[in-house]
Amino acid sequence: MDLALAEARAALATDDVPIGAVVIGPDAKVLATGRNEREAHGDPTAHAELVAIRAAAQALRDAGRGDGWRLEDCTLVVTLEPCAMCAGAIVLSRIPKVIFGAWDEKAGAVGSVFDILREPRLNHWVEVYPGVRKEECAALLSDFFRARRRD
Ligand SMILES: [Zn+2]
Repeated sequence: MDLALAEARAALATDDVPIGAVVIGPDAKVLATGRNEREAHGDPTAHAELVAIRAAAQALRDAGRGDGWRLEDCTLVVTLEPCAMCAGAIVLSRIPKVIFGAWDEKAGAVGSVFDILREPRLNHWVEVYPGVRKEECAALLSDFFRARRRD
């Protein structure tokens, strides 16, 4: 979560909402990192989780491990509860374990609004560890939005 928080802070440089993500590989080493780059690239899908998942799949492919898109035995760590798009990507990439920080009461899809990662109708269920260092993760976001309102 330290690294995910560092990624989140780095997103501030491009005036992006500070959200960071890390994919830990099957060997328990960091496989890829990502941060919200929506403003940086003008890309509505450049959420931290998607950036990290894409980079992780590429890293596995480059290393000649697996088929390069199934992130089996990997863990995704992210500072904010994933949205519906990112939860969908987690299911599609077969990530078995997700650790997240703050809850997203408005758009969260891992228990707040939807629960895509534990949806019984899907054939992939994910082990979820919510609320890890949630105060720090949430403070980063609330500070960001408070500063914006002042501008
Ligand atoms: Zn998302």
